[in-house]
Amino acid sequence: MNNNCIFCKIIGNEISSFTLYEDDDFKVIMDISPAAKGHAVLMPKKHIANVFEVEEEVASKAFGVAVKVAKAMKEELKCDGLNILQNSGEAAGQTVFHFHIHLIPRFKNDSVQITWACKSYGEGEAESIAAAIRKRLAKFLLP
Ligand code: 5GP
Ligand code: ZN
Repeated sequence: MNNNCIFCKIIGNEISSFTLYEDDDFKVIMDISPAAKGHAVLMPKKHIANVFEVEEEVASKAFGVAVKVAKAMKEELKCDGLNILQNSGEAAGQTVFHFHIHLIPRFKNDSVQITWACKSYGEGEAESIAAAIRKRLAKFLLP
């Protein structure tokens, strides 16, 4: 529990929320400022700041919960699609620094914008960035 964290307060029921799902490890609530009706956020109960801090086991379990909630949303809201979004770091748009996954129901021709301007690589650039990340990744793949 982090005393300055709004999501920890929601988990501790100090701040109320509309809960879709809760178990020992996770809570899924309706977002207070939804991008679309039904927009929910899924959070581990343990205070973890972002994707760089989260344990893989927690992330795996979280995604399992996300899949179930997504299926329930599709059936109930009859949405045509759904965005799963996770912002880590201020630069990425994170505003609540307690790891969470957004589930945003989408409808054909809705006005929700989750978009970016496409960029391009210079000659050989994609290949060299891929090689550099691949090299770094090796240490995270160790058993
Ligand atoms: P982020 O920008 O960090 O990826 O997402 C944080 C989300 O938490 C935002 O979509 C915001 O609307 C939501 N949020 C912030 N404070 C509260 C709150 O007190 N209650 C609920 N239910 N959602 C919140
Ligand atoms: Zn927290």
